[in-house]
Amino acid sequence: MKMNFFSTTTTALSTQLRFDQKEMNFAKAVGKSTTTTALSFFPLANKEQSCIRIPKELATEVMKTHSSTLFGYFLGPRLHFSIVERYVKVAWGKFGFTELMMDNNGIYFFKFNDIGGSNQVVEAGPLMIRGVPLFVEHWDPVKGLTKPVHTSCPLWVKLHNVPLVAFNKEGISRIASALGIPKQMDACTASMCDKAWGRPGFAKVLIETWAVGELKRELQVLIPDLNGTDDVRVTIKVEYLWEPSQCSHCLVFGHKTSTCAKAVIAQKSKGKPKMVDEQGFTLVQRKEWRPKAVVGSTSGTKVDNDLRKEASHGKRCPL
Ligand SMILES: [Zn+2]
Repeated sequence: MKMNFFSTTTTALSTQLRFDQKEMNFAKAVGKSTTTTALSFFPLANKEQSCIRIPKELATEVMKTHSSTLFGYFLGPRLHFSIVERYVKVAWGKFGFTELMMDNNGIYFFKFNDIGGSNQVVEAGPLMIRGVPLFVEHWDPVKGLTKPVHTSCPLWVKLHNVPLVAFNKEGISRIASALGIPKQMDACTASMCDKAWGRPGFAKVLIETWAVGELKRELQVLIPDLNGTDDVRVTIKVEYLWEPSQCSHCLVFGHKTSTCAKAVIAQKSKGKPKMVDEQGFTLVQRKEWRPKAVVGSTSGTKVDNDLRKEASHGKRCPL
């Protein structure tokens, strides 16, 4: 291929320029590290090592920095960051809340001016944002890694078709008790109960709902016939303003049955037929060892599990 002097020179120049730029970028990136950007190398047992232990001293130091940091989570679909930010600024501003951040697993972190303010927020219990409870706890190096699971969860519930005879404080409390611990009702429901007149369509109630496998969608109420002997049955429709994830195997809120490791293992073992000997004793078959599952884990796993996994792959953590 023919190439004239000009094009050869241009090509050479542009190659040189790219090289210089590369060198300059490299120098810029690594040649002038400052105390804030410089890293240190910590010697390994060998180059295959892939398990790193964070020393207690470092964890203690970080813990001090975050002594007034809370972590928060939803037990199901989370609300958008900007909505959470807006609500907590209003609700927790008086407690010295300053800023928030969120990790890839939907766990929020809230910074407060001092531990007194964060204590008050934890003591107040979950913050209801648009009917969705935001649970908060004091952060520590292990706790903030996973979303805890709960056996109950405060939920706003609409009870449709409440008969007039039960549309009062006691009646609604009795009906709501079939779902969990009734906490409070909204202003319209309270007014209806108080005056026995107003909005009889539905009662809106906050209930500490139990995780019993599936959320109840219908309730039956028996109304006594004061002139006869037979009760009259009325069906109440239950509507949840927001629904948490729920596991029907563990009976907890916080993860789904379909993603539960324990439920999968239980289902597999259910499928195996029992071996019984001539005397009727169950024969124990050789069991396969499996690492223990961490329920409700989103990102972090227990260190022991990591070490076991390494061991199961023939590797041994040198630390
Ligand atoms: Zn489960």
